[in-house]
Amino acid sequence: MLTHGQCVAWLRAFAALIDENKEFLTDLDSAIGDADHGTNMARGTTAALGKLDPAAPLGSMFRSVGMALVGTVGGSAGPLYGTFFMKLGARLGDVKDVSLPTFAAALAAGRDGVVVRGKASVGEKTMIDALTPAVKAFGSHIGEGLPGAAAAALAAAQQGRDATVDMVATKGRASYLGKRSAGHQDPGATSTAYLFEALVTAVGEE
Ligand code: ADP
Ligand code: MG
Repeated sequence: MLTHGQCVAWLRAFAALIDENKEFLTDLDSAIGDADHGTNMARGTTAALGKLDPAAPLGSMFRSVGMALVGTVGGSAGPLYGTFFMKLGARLGDVKDVSLPTFAAALAAGRDGVVVRGKASVGEKTMIDALTPAVKAFGSHIGEGLPGAAAAALAAAQQGRDATVDMVATKGRASYLGKRSAGHQDPGATSTAYLFEALVTAVGEE
């Protein structure tokens, strides 16, 4: 079971990690993009937290987070992260707490939404390289309980993030660089690893 309080803590921890690492994310984006990923994400998560209704059921809470991200973050990451949270919320529905299989399915629905929207698959040097393995790992480790599943998802996200270093980007702004995009860590895969680091933190708090 993932509690409503843990979901609120997840969003708060994600916003805190983005804020702490926004310069780093922007530095990564300056190498292969337009140097705005950290500021984009920090603006979005700050707006989402400002509108967060901690009493709202999970479906509406995550949908409003997604809408805030779409509404305040320009560029690719806002609509992509926004879609993730909107689809996650839609799959959860208006419940208070959620079982691990349902949460795993909701994470997968969020990831599928990002894929439909951005059309990236694993290996194209995007946030999908962290998100897809993390979501899969969460689903296949739910038998170990919430801390085990969250830890497995984080390890997979970090491994996927690290694998983007050697990739040549074929989606997003970094693809304009072609082969010169290799040798740099993808900013979106890096922020996605924070999403799962935040989940580990939130799960450890209760
Ligand atoms: P922009 O590229 O518009 O400046 P950001 O800098 O905020 O937006 O986000 C860049 C990140 O978005 C990339 O590092 C990559 O992970 C992700 N991204 C870009 N295009 C796609 C896509 N089509 N599918 C999935 N993720 C993508
Ligand atoms: Mg950018």
